[in-house]
Amino acid sequence: MPITSEKLIAWLQRVGQVLHEQREYLTQLDAAIGDADHGINMDRGFRAVVEKLPALASADSGTILKTVGTTLVSTVGGASGPLYGTAFLRAGIAMAGKQELQEADVVALLAAMVEGIQARGKARRGEKTMLDALLPALEAARKAEGEGLEMLQVLQACSSAAEAGMKSTIPLLATKGRASYLGARSIGHQDPGATSSTLMLQALVETYR
Ligand code: ADP
Ligand code: MG
Ligand code: MG
Repeated sequence: MPITSEKLIAWLQRVGQVLHEQREYLTQLDAAIGDADHGINMDRGFRAVVEKLPALASADSGTILKTVGTTLVSTVGGASGPLYGTAFLRAGIAMAGKQELQEADVVALLAAMVEGIQARGKARRGEKTMLDALLPALEAARKAEGEGLEMLQVLQACSSAAEAGMKSTIPLLATKGRASYLGARSIGHQDPGATSSTLMLQALVETYR
């Protein structure tokens, strides 16, 4: 079963709820290795996204994703606004005109997000960023899709890989973003951006089910 635009909107709504519920948690993670605003940033950004969703009820997936991107760029400051903003903008361009997304589209969507984040932030795997959740998620989705698995399994594989990637950031030394200012003191803490990325993908499985 594909992801319809209706499901895509339901997912974004759920992301808004989850990021609101996890606002303190994300902020605490950022307090340890950053400036204690990641939960605030993500909650602000997705609150603005959720406000735009009713007007997008009959839009195609590409338009919906692009709107998320422009909204995040204009409402979220710091590193995560432009990074997630570019990710969703690129995803929107990749999904232009599509009314529903198939398994291969999900892979292309994630690939576009990762490319956007890397074009903007120049980080690679292992630098303790959101990419440590999103790169394994992309690989898992690609593998599952390549094996011919159905949407739910593709999304579950993707979400589980993100979660493992998120946990893998704990022992890493941060070499990008604010956390890199801490040097070795960044070790032993979970990356906030890898956590918000994982929450988004977990919400996708939940909404799709
Ligand atoms: P800021 O650090 O400006 O306060 P946030 O706290 O909202 O912004 O976001 C911090 C998160 O952004 C980090 O946890 C990390 O995952 C992500 N991040 C920072 N720099 C980069 C980068 N160059 N590439 C990818 N992700 C990054
Ligand atoms: Mg911060
Ligand atoms: Mg900040």
